[in-house]
Amino acid sequence: MTATQNYTPITPLEERLVDLIKLKGPISIADYMTDALGHPHEGYYMRQTPIGADGDFTTAPEISQVFGELIGLWLVEAWQSMGSPESFNLIELGPGRGTLMVDILRAARLRPGFARAAQVWLVETSGLLRLEQQKRLKETEVSPLWADDFGDIPPAPSLIVANEFFDCLPIHQFERVKTGWRERLVGLDESGTRLAFTLDPTPAAPEYNLPEITESEIGDIFEVSPISLDFAGTICRTLKENGGHALIIDYGHMERGFGDTLQAVKDHAYWPPLLSPGHADITAHVDFEALSKVAIENGINAHGPVTQGRFLDRLGLALRVEALCKGQPEDKANEIRAGATRIAASNAMGEIFKVLSYSSPNLPTPAGLET
Ligand code: SAH
Repeated sequence: MTATQNYTPITPLEERLVDLIKLKGPISIADYMTDALGHPHEGYYMRQTPIGADGDFTTAPEISQVFGELIGLWLVEAWQSMGSPESFNLIELGPGRGTLMVDILRAARLRPGFARAAQVWLVETSGLLRLEQQKRLKETEVSPLWADDFGDIPPAPSLIVANEFFDCLPIHQFERVKTGWRERLVGLDESGTRLAFTLDPTPAAPEYNLPEITESEIGDIFEVSPISLDFAGTICRTLKENGGHALIIDYGHMERGFGDTLQAVKDHAYWPPLLSPGHADITAHVDFEALSKVAIENGINAHGPVTQGRFLDRLGLALRVEALCKGQPEDKANEIRAGATRIAASNAMGEIFKVLSYSSPNLPTPAGLET
């Protein structure tokens, strides 16, 4: 048992998982994440509204309204590039508190036809967050609909936005040992009462497409998220069949590589990922190379990834910030500028966050994603 575990009370979900592992043996990190985040009663996103100053973490739309406004203008342009269809799905995956969608719709008022044509769909599994989204979206002109799963949305030309959504989809981790790859699992520590990482004694299944032994060294960790790839595949097929663009924003790497990126956050600080399941947010970095490949495999175009800082700069962040600051008292103007710096500066969120778009064939490269 680690020192932190010693002082941290066991959560109801940890107790359940300990019992399950005692009975059936270690579980994958993906199964652990699925329960820790999505368990119907004890899952992190089901128990509380985690985002914002009072929560455990914050996100770009919560930091600066400029983020959502620039994305709103991006979406209007993307809609026009599709020939301004009179009816389309405007879909957000994992909308959190609904802030991004509210900011998008405010900026999109520039072209009133956009909101009139849009059927807004929010893909959200958490009942608590749905309530918050419902409240926020009441101030807008749209009548949104909710779906548990992207696949439940009726097909139509689509514009899809996902900010900090893919990072909470479950991953599998593998560790390179002398003879090959072994899956890293969640088992029990020596006391048999708390969770601890362990290695599967049998070789990893070939369907995970792990790097060749010659490309890796003993001790390397490699992560794969089949659920993310399935999700991305469904998005790409929808775009191919019905037309449209998707915008995926998240922290992650442009090229696949080795490393353990599984992380938990509680009260705005890092937290051990196996401690207090259901009470801490758990995420992993997104593999943008893998997400780009899904587009190519499905016959649509991927643009980017580019860094979030570059993307926002190209969309006119500086001009928008100065327009917002005009006429504001000094402290308010400073707050607006500080928010914009945080989402775009390379030593804050500007470099680690990447932006990727999917576009159906024959549509132009969307704004900000030229490489
Ligand atoms: N996009 C928001 C919130 C990010 S937090 C923002 O930028 O502020 C992640 C969001 O994804 C939450 O709304 C969470 O409830 C939702 N979510 C997590 N896993 C999900 C899943 N499998 N299906 C649908 N929504 C999910």
